[in-house]
Amino acid sequence: MHRKPPASPNTNRLAVIGGGPGGYSAAFRAADLGFDVTLIEHYPMLGGVCLNVGCIPSKTLLHATAAIATALELKEQGITFESPKIEIKRLMEFKNDVITRLNSGLTKLAQQRRINVLQGTAHFHSENQLKLQDSEQIINFDKAIIACGSRNRLIAGTTNNPRIMYSSAALNITSVPKQLLIIGGGYIGIENAFIYQGLGSEVTIAEMESQLLNLCDADIAKPLIDRLTHICDAIHTQAQVTQLENNTKHISAEIKTPEGTEHKQFDAVLVAAGRLPNSDRLNLQAINLITDDNGYIMVDECMRTNLPTIYAVGDVTGSPMLAHKAAHQGKIAAEHISGKRVCFDPKAIPSVIYSNPELAWVGLTEHDARSADIDYRCALFPWQANGRALGTQQSHGLSKLIYHAQTKKLLGGAVCGANADELIAEVTLALEMDADLEDIAASIHPHPTYSETIAQTAELALGTITELYSGKQHKQ
Ligand code: FAD
Repeated sequence: MHRKPPASPNTNRLAVIGGGPGGYSAAFRAADLGFDVTLIEHYPMLGGVCLNVGCIPSKTLLHATAAIATALELKEQGITFESPKIEIKRLMEFKNDVITRLNSGLTKLAQQRRINVLQGTAHFHSENQLKLQDSEQIINFDKAIIACGSRNRLIAGTTNNPRIMYSSAALNITSVPKQLLIIGGGYIGIENAFIYQGLGSEVTIAEMESQLLNLCDADIAKPLIDRLTHICDAIHTQAQVTQLENNTKHISAEIKTPEGTEHKQFDAVLVAAGRLPNSDRLNLQAINLITDDNGYIMVDECMRTNLPTIYAVGDVTGSPMLAHKAAHQGKIAAEHISGKRVCFDPKAIPSVIYSNPELAWVGLTEHDARSADIDYRCALFPWQANGRALGTQQSHGLSKLIYHAQTKKLLGGAVCGANADELIAEVTLALEMDADLEDIAASIHPHPTYSETIAQTAELALGTITELYSGKQHKQ
């Protein structure tokens, strides 16, 4: 392995707290840069929330339920299947096997880099020392990276109720509730709605905000909202669940909305009402490390905290709380500690909801552009005009680009439809490269693909599109 010697042999002890995407990326990069790395993780396996109870298990289950939905859609093409027989135990075994394989991969990668992985819960003893809880072990470090992540925000009185679950338990399915209430219509609530509805639950969503998916523009979110409205039993917005009470067979929920108060019986309730940083368990007050009022650790663009020896990355530094952001920050922190002139300054970080249809967006939304008083324009391309989408029953999809009215530089983009998770990577790259509409339109996209819709959206904006007739085509 190619190892670069650190600046001084006496300053290369790096401690990383947390073995999630932020922590293991930081630890691996730092080890490759020649640091003597100790990685401390509370749980026996690496991977953090993302691998063990977040991104990977949820996407594995969503793949299974999306396949059921696709099989049903084939009816329109004259192909029918029998109702699926769902073996929850086997499905969980498959999901757990995926996790275990990735856990082992991370352990091996840590071993190959000779990282000292310790299982335990660390807190600060001083600006250069960590202590492991329930042990006298002290870890001396020259630099530390905090990557302790976040946890579910709990609702008082719900933790010991077997009918109430949080996201981790929701992904460890033992039985499928007939009637499920999901509190919280963010991406975790929505993805679970697709998982449980796909497995046979009747799902109700209660969301406090006035509309679902208000982080992106209403036009692009419409195909997903339509689908959710179709598959869910009920969606309550501006809703507060004011009471949850177990009775012999059910859990009774009191749901208050501007229209009135409803009492409904459910078999189970999933609470997906946001996340909290794990900074409160690190004894930060002892070293005067600054957090904001909500406990998120304040960092600069190099991931430095207010203390010269301590950096922080990932969910514990605040939103967006996404694995790819955590991993990227982890590498930046390690490289900055090694003396490289780097900083965390992405033009944009993509967000994806792995629903059916998927919804992904990156950069500015129209709402952002309007609020920032930017002279913007946007183009929305309907997938009805895309041959691939018609052939795969995805014609409800949409692609959207937001661009500067004068310079035609890209400001943001969004996709709702199949493979939006993959398609948004092109828009992210275009933003990072400071591309304008011509750059996107001039890049030849393979045919027939959904990716053509990105180029066609740019052509629509430029007035050069041939797949649609808008009447605004340039004549020259
Ligand atoms: P974490 O992954 O939370 O890891 C922190 C680790 O630190 C944990 O393992 C914890 O045990 C450990 N730890 C905490 N305190 C201590 C301590 N004092 N000592 C030692 N160890 C400690 N993001 C995406 O980008 N895409 C997705 O599809 C996606 N899906 C998700 C689905 C769900 C259901 C959930 C809950 C989250 C999802 N996320 C997704 C978010 C993603 O999981 C997080 O953004 C990501 O895990 C953050 O990484 P992190 O390294 O900051 O923290």
